[in-house]
Amino acid sequence: RFSNSLKSIARDQHLKTYLQNSSELYPLLAKGAKRFVAGERREDGLVRAKEFHTQGHAVSLEYIGENTITKEECVRSKEEFKGLITDLGRLGMKATVSFDLSHIGMMVSDDLAFIHLEELASAAAKNGISLMISMEESQKTDRILSLYKRISKTHSNVGITLQVHLNRTSIDLEDILSLSGNIRLVKGAYQEGEEQYIPRSSELNNRYIHFVTTCLEHDHPISVATHDETILTELKKKDLLRNPRVEVEMLDGVRPDLLRRLHDEDVNTKVYVTYGSEWYLYVVHRIAEYPPNIYTFISDVIEE
Ligand code: FAD
Repeated sequence: RFSNSLKSIARDQHLKTYLQNSSELYPLLAKGAKRFVAGERREDGLVRAKEFHTQGHAVSLEYIGENTITKEECVRSKEEFKGLITDLGRLGMKATVSFDLSHIGMMVSDDLAFIHLEELASAAAKNGISLMISMEESQKTDRILSLYKRISKTHSNVGITLQVHLNRTSIDLEDILSLSGNIRLVKGAYQEGEEQYIPRSSELNNRYIHFVTTCLEHDHPISVATHDETILTELKKKDLLRNPRVEVEMLDGVRPDLLRRLHDEDVNTKVYVTYGSEWYLYVVHRIAEYPPNIYTFISDVIEE
């Protein structure tokens, strides 16, 4: 309940505008956000990505944003992603660029989202970069999957995120296993109707492990995107983590200790790095999904 209340408060536009205009509060919040967000500029994201790359982790990069409602804003976001892809190519970093389809056009129309997706996929292919489509609320799942299937016909460098907590996902997974794009499994970050999903529980963890096993039975590449040590330990026991088709992907700033340990155990590891001026909602999500982060956030803010 705390988590959902926090997310709704964060979506309040008045509060957001107030904070952004507050010359005292905004810099303090930005200081606390640094643990989870590289910075506001593309350059900040690239610097952070290079650090992880040097430490031996693969990297996903996202320019933060979602639900972009005008065509002009969608074009601007798409251009930012294109610039990011070109810069990563120039730096020779074999990275993944990750985004919400609602950030690049889906709120305007599926056709606009597809045109932008295709442009990004072609630019990514030229630069040796892969793309990863994030998964949003369940009202959008059908449209996102349909755009993913459409792009998969021409581009194998585009992957898709599936939310294990949704009951429909076992069918969706079967449906896309024949496509070549990487599958990223996440538990799911959105509040859904009771009949649509199962909450955090051992049942959810078992389902997660079952989906990983299913992907590997089909020899399908997979990103195990979780910070849950119980799941990771279980996968390790089954000797599934060091499979070359598997990478373990974690959000920057969430469990760096665990990620390093896995890297030292020869598991393929990946860090999800974010940047952009829309960091506020992203950071509130990180606190909402793990409330003890509020203490870390406050101590980062007050640290000299
Ligand atoms: P949880 O059960 O939530 O947490 C397990 C344990 O991990 C916790 O007990 C705690 O020890 C640790 N932990 C988890 N979160 C935090 C945190 N913020 N700070 C500190 N410790 C923490 N969701 C979507 O709905 N769509 C997406 O496209 C999407 N993309 C993602 C991409 C990546 C790479 C990752 C890692 C997550 C993504 N998510 C996405 C978020 C995901 O759905 C979960 O909300 C999030 O990963 C937390 O779930 P968990 O698997 O870590 O397990």
